[in-house]
Amino acid sequence: MALAQGTNRKRLVKEPTLYDQNYLISRLHAASVGQETRNFARIHQRASMTFGELFAGAERMAAALVSLGVEPGDRVAVQVSKTIEAIQLYLGTVMAGGVFLPLNTAYTTSEVSYFLGDATPRVVVCDPLHEDAVRNIAGDAKVLTLDDKGRGTLEEAIVGRGGFTPVARGPDDLAAILYTSGTTGRSKGAMLSHKNLASNSEMLRDYWRFTKADVLIHALPIFHTHGLFVATNVALLAGASVEFLAGFNADQILDAMPRATALMGVPTFYTRLLDDPRLTRARAANMRLFISGSAPLLVDTHEKWEDRTGHRILERYGMTETNMSTSNPYDGDRRAGTVGFPLPGVEARIRKDGQEVEAGEIGVLEVRGDNVFQGYWQMPEKTAEELLPDGWFITGDLAKIDADGYVTIVGRDKDLVITGGFNVYPKEVEALIDDLPGVLESAVIGVPHPDFGEGVVAVVVPDADTLQAEGIAMALDGQLAKFKQPKKVLLVPELPRNTMGKVQKKALRETYADLFA
Ligand code: AMP
Repeated sequence: MALAQGTNRKRLVKEPTLYDQNYLISRLHAASVGQETRNFARIHQRASMTFGELFAGAERMAAALVSLGVEPGDRVAVQVSKTIEAIQLYLGTVMAGGVFLPLNTAYTTSEVSYFLGDATPRVVVCDPLHEDAVRNIAGDAKVLTLDDKGRGTLEEAIVGRGGFTPVARGPDDLAAILYTSGTTGRSKGAMLSHKNLASNSEMLRDYWRFTKADVLIHALPIFHTHGLFVATNVALLAGASVEFLAGFNADQILDAMPRATALMGVPTFYTRLLDDPRLTRARAANMRLFISGSAPLLVDTHEKWEDRTGHRILERYGMTETNMSTSNPYDGDRRAGTVGFPLPGVEARIRKDGQEVEAGEIGVLEVRGDNVFQGYWQMPEKTAEELLPDGWFITGDLAKIDADGYVTIVGRDKDLVITGGFNVYPKEVEALIDDLPGVLESAVIGVPHPDFGEGVVAVVVPDADTLQAEGIAMALDGQLAKFKQPKKVLLVPELPRNTMGKVQKKALRETYADLFA
């Protein structure tokens, strides 16, 4: 009897583990306890990695970072190819009590120089090809290398290192700094706490029903919130495994699909996969969930995807500063063109001139909750402008919330066109153009105009040779108030996009700055 009681108690009282003192790591690790020999990642053209190996390697990296002088709160800046070792470096940095600072692999040395000067990391890990250049700009930081095969001086630094007990860190301590893409002015470092990351990913795991049975196709970059936190953290928190790909590759994604259950992508993943005849209902039969975010998904893509695969893509919305804020429902109507409802624990409101607007009216979206970041690194004024004392964060996205609660993103506040004193929301014009026959997609911008301040310009990508700019202008006449109609329609082969699939309206505005000069 006594023995039975003891056994029961053992089952009920969770045994403390070596990871318990570190808020984020203990949570990311919990689902894999007792599953150490199960595969976490199947990796294209490399050996698979188990959960046990993942965390053991991360511990060795943590030990190496501490021996290089990393103390709690120190930044570890990382500009490397996507490898499973880079994921271990993220986990290892957080285990060491450090702050992970991933940098877009597309950044040039002069851009990286700004980030290193601003963030003053203790350690920088870069590709061996850039080692010399990085040493020149790294100041006092120690420089290590990691290549696209997981090799480099980081690997040498962990040889012979044993286990590591993660450094104690609480919910409000920083786990990461991610620089925003900086479409206006200097790029800002968004400070994310252990709780920001853990709470958002735990909620997404439950909302999107991720479990150990899932196999996620992980093809997003890991220098961005989407691939690093949404994909990686959700998989780890669920104890799910991943098909780990170095980047978007239609062959590899289609090959993985019959073994997988979920894909997280940006809209361009979906448009490119639709171009491939191998995407069929049969190939997607084992999949239970396709998620899209980071840029607007065209209604057309949503519809074509459903026709071809039988699946309705689940679109969600978030940003570096807020993690994920809204999502279409798992059960229920996934409404194309909308980003769904505020997620559990996230409050959302739309304001214009300091006042909340009526349902369906457009204004600036603000969000509040444990998902919202701690402020911009060493930019108290910028932080004060965007993060209000009562916790509301001004996203800078123009949006509306329908009477039934669905949120629709209309564009960035700064992309709003003001012509002759009237506001033009680009999305309204783009939606009409996109619906015209022969149009693939469009971007509407405002450029300097001598009479109107700004003139509306439509940059349109045709999907038929017959499309004429004049035809577009004529079709819009009668559908839109005169001031909203483009003063110029330009046909181009494609729109400029960044790696996350976002249309670069700033680049378009620069290209066409002199159009009305
Ligand atoms: P980032 O911080 O790089 O993740 O960029 C965040 C921005 O991407 C948001 O402020 C939105 O402007 C945009 N964004 C993210 N998800 C969506 C979506 N589903 N639809 C439209 N825009 C989105």
